[in-house]
Amino acid sequence: MKKLALHWQILIGMAFGVLWGMFASGFGLVSITLDWIKPFGTIFINLLKLIAVPLVLVSLITGVSSLSDISRLSRIGSKTIGIYLATTVLAVTLGLALVNIFDPGKAFSPEKREEFKEQFASATTAKSSDAESVKKQGPLQPLVDIVPSNIFHSMTDNGSMLQVIFFALLFGVALIMIPPDKAQPVNDFFEGVNMVILKVVDIIMRTAPYGVFALLAGLVVEFAGDDPGSAVELLLVLGYYCIVVTLGLAAMIFIVYPMLVVFIGKTNYKTFFKGIFPAQMLAFSTSSSAATLPVTMECAEKNLGINREVSSFVLPLGATINMDGTSLYQSVAAVFIAQAYGMDLDLMTQLGIVMTATLASIGAAAVPGAGTVMLVIVLQQAGIPVEGIALILAPDRILDMLRTTVNVTGDATVAMMIARTEGQLHPVTETAEV
Ligand code: ASP
Repeated sequence: MKKLALHWQILIGMAFGVLWGMFASGFGLVSITLDWIKPFGTIFINLLKLIAVPLVLVSLITGVSSLSDISRLSRIGSKTIGIYLATTVLAVTLGLALVNIFDPGKAFSPEKREEFKEQFASATTAKSSDAESVKKQGPLQPLVDIVPSNIFHSMTDNGSMLQVIFFALLFGVALIMIPPDKAQPVNDFFEGVNMVILKVVDIIMRTAPYGVFALLAGLVVEFAGDDPGSAVELLLVLGYYCIVVTLGLAAMIFIVYPMLVVFIGKTNYKTFFKGIFPAQMLAFSTSSSAATLPVTMECAEKNLGINREVSSFVLPLGATINMDGTSLYQSVAAVFIAQAYGMDLDLMTQLGIVMTATLASIGAAAVPGAGTVMLVIVLQQAGIPVEGIALILAPDRILDMLRTTVNVTGDATVAMMIARTEGQLHPVTETAEV
């Protein structure tokens, strides 16, 4: 009998995870699940994160150095960043249009809005204390933060992927500039390391069905274990807000990206969707573009025929700076909170949101929940009470899963466009394991 493809195994793992989670919370198995199953999910995510930094570092160095001359690098580089920015701005604008059409925050009764104002003023959550530190920064801080003073520190848990990218780009550019006979051994070394890293990813992905089972089982029991305790009105309005975010995210995946893939990538969208599907599923179950990156790259190269030269440069960059889903979510969330407080945002303020949500999504780390922390910047700039974040925390995880899926799909779409316009798309010969 033919072995079931890994992506089907992952899908089955997800389904069983949800079923188990529901069963466990109904039959008093919550603590068993949290103690004995959830840790395997954490191990799986750790494994993916473990490989993310070396992957970004090495693939960007080899990506940049394979572009072999500076003018080519700057052409592809500026094209990539330009398209990333354009799709992000489009996503924010779409989010703003939807939230203004549907007005989810106005669905609260006036009394409820008053109540929220009082509640949130006293709410102190872990997220808002994280948020405090984001708030205190000066205007040029994001720029300063990109340049590391110690690359080893950047590569740690408290470090920053943008700094790793900065270092890798600098290293790659310098590698192009030194004499070829000296550069060759360095190139060979990184090529070899790159192959090793991809093999490691392969090995990790074999455990994916069990990993996502444990992740989703843990998520479901944690959610069900939570005492919803809140009024039906709150649930309904939050549900409405989630629908508006989801509508925007769906429009990106089913309208915007298909148009880009078909008209600029000159590729059948079904082929694209099928090829990137494993990465989408992993993005959904991990809520992290960084953790998904190895699989996004493998899908792009093996299933979509995008040349390594393009994928190894465009995708690691995109995982960190291109977050269309996150920026869309931030614009909807900001206006939703404003509406809940009874504030009416004028056009200028909304244009300001376009800018800050774009920047905040670029600055957001590609890990779960990062977009929510960066939302503070958007709220603050628009003069919306930051405490309002507490309002949207409850459904945040599920929206995080969805927006990460969009983030990853957006990166792959742009990689496709760059590959096509650079003549770097080749016929697909093999299919990725995942
Ligand atoms: N989880 C998202 C990602 O990794 C970022 C976010 O919006 O929180 O792409």
